[in-house]
Amino acid sequence: MPFRIATFLLASLLGGACAAAILGWHFAWLGAWLGAVVWLLLDAWRARRLLEVLRVDAAGLPSRGPGVWGELAERIRKLLRARELQTRQAEERLQEFLAAIQASPNGVVLLDEQGRIEWCNQTAAGQFGIDAERDLLQHLANLVRDPAFVAYLASWNYSRDVVIDAPSQARGHRSHSARLSVQVHPYAGNRRMLLTRDITSLEQAEAMRRDFVANVSHEIRTPLTVLAGFVETLQNLPLDAQERSRYLTLMGQQSHRMETLVNDLLTLSRLEGSVAPPPHRWTRIRALMAQCEDEGRGLSNRLSAQGHRLSFSMEADSEIAGAPTELQSAMSNLVSNAIRYTPGGGDIEVTWRLLPDGRGEFAVQDSGPGIAAEHIPRLTERFYRIDRSRSRETGGTGLGLAIVKHIAQRHGGELRIVSTVGKGSRFALVFPVTRLRQASAVSAVA
Ligand code: ADP
Repeated sequence: MPFRIATFLLASLLGGACAAAILGWHFAWLGAWLGAVVWLLLDAWRARRLLEVLRVDAAGLPSRGPGVWGELAERIRKLLRARELQTRQAEERLQEFLAAIQASPNGVVLLDEQGRIEWCNQTAAGQFGIDAERDLLQHLANLVRDPAFVAYLASWNYSRDVVIDAPSQARGHRSHSARLSVQVHPYAGNRRMLLTRDITSLEQAEAMRRDFVANVSHEIRTPLTVLAGFVETLQNLPLDAQERSRYLTLMGQQSHRMETLVNDLLTLSRLEGSVAPPPHRWTRIRALMAQCEDEGRGLSNRLSAQGHRLSFSMEADSEIAGAPTELQSAMSNLVSNAIRYTPGGGDIEVTWRLLPDGRGEFAVQDSGPGIAAEHIPRLTERFYRIDRSRSRETGGTGLGLAIVKHIAQRHGGELRIVSTVGKGSRFALVFPVTRLRQASAVSAVA
């Protein structure tokens, strides 16, 4: 401020001095007055220019000029630059935030006070079958017309979620509908945020768990009921020694059935919960085949007086890495199934060979009844049986192939099933090259 007064006085003094020098001392006051007016006009012009620049484009403010207007311009420029930086940072943070919500596996939709879509991420757009850009400012209730959802949205009671079928336009190539859980969270007055979650697999897993429990209960209840009946008979009826012994044998069979079922259930749960089979524990295929042969011949003799024509052969003397008991269980299971489902006198051929790509194949070919194509994809489901009575008669639990598939997968392998009704079936376990090697000289002698 003192500088401004000083320049003002200087301008009027200068004007006075110039007038005195040119026109004489009598005109000095006029010169001083003119100097002051010129100074004021110049000052007003600079203020106006600054105002115009500010009005049009604040970014174009001149860099520091002289006097108070220069300083003012400089300060405004600095202030604006700081604001710009803050805005840019806030914008970047907002973009990062939106990118994080975009990456979320859950859907997010923001609704304004009128229930119109303000923003939604791609997950929500996909789940609701809407277009994140085209449908902005549309009323969500007009786009998602499920009555339960519409009623929930209008209720303003969001203490729990609502579960709906995903709209058909969101189904895309999927033949069955997805299930969505939608929960609304009000915020900032009457605005609402919708969180959506695809719970299809969760519901499927829950249904599978329920089915599994129901199946296990059913499988155990049947022999238990039979057993209870026998116990009652033994308690209430006077039976001779021969009849008693027959009843006790039948009771033994039922308890054996329950024991087998519990053992298979335990095997499955062990397979699900245990660590991957060791990659460096080597077992000779020859030893596994020998055990299959012993068990297979014993089972064949027990099940049919005629027996089966069994053949076991190996095209390569290999060793396999993994858990020997699991591998034995998988292989024996396939041999046992072939024997149990092939009528006496039938042919069963068990082979081990290396495929052209180096993988190893353990295959069991039988001349049994064969399996219709529609059953094949379901055979490894727990408790899935085609011939229920044959399975029960021969001590089956309906869990055998589920266990085999599990073991194959744990060893990086797969179970292949090929079958023709009336001709027989071929069950093969194919193991990856990484789990195989040629039998070493030492183990080959053993
Ligand atoms: P199970 O204990 O009943 O044998 P599995 O899981 O081992 O259960 O097999 C499932 C079903 O697959 C069996 O119930 C049977 O109907 C069918 N199956 C398995 N192996 C054969 C086979 N070699 N020939 C014909 N059917 C078979």
